[in-house]
Amino acid sequence: MDIRTWEGDKVKIMVDYDKCNGNGACVEICPTSVYEIQEGKTVPVAIDECIECCACVENCPMEAIVHSSC
Ligand code: SF4
Ligand code: SF4
Repeated sequence: MDIRTWEGDKVKIMVDYDKCNGNGACVEICPTSVYEIQEGKTVPVAIDECIECCACVENCPMEAIVHSSC
């Protein structure tokens, strides 16, 4: 299991890197550009811009994202 965790001021985001295939759906759907793909996996580089809309969790086809507010 390769679960990565990022903690911001308001939220915590976990991504299962065994599931993430880097397809970029979370990058495309996030309204505040929290994510970017690095070396084939998503990274919430701008976690403090998160507005807790849960679109990333709902639109990841691999169900790789766990979000503290969703
Ligand atoms: S949508 Fe899911 S599988 Fe695709 S890059 Fe984001 S976390 Fe990875
Ligand atoms: S919850 Fe919404 S704003 Fe926050 S990272 Fe996911 S898509 Fe972006």
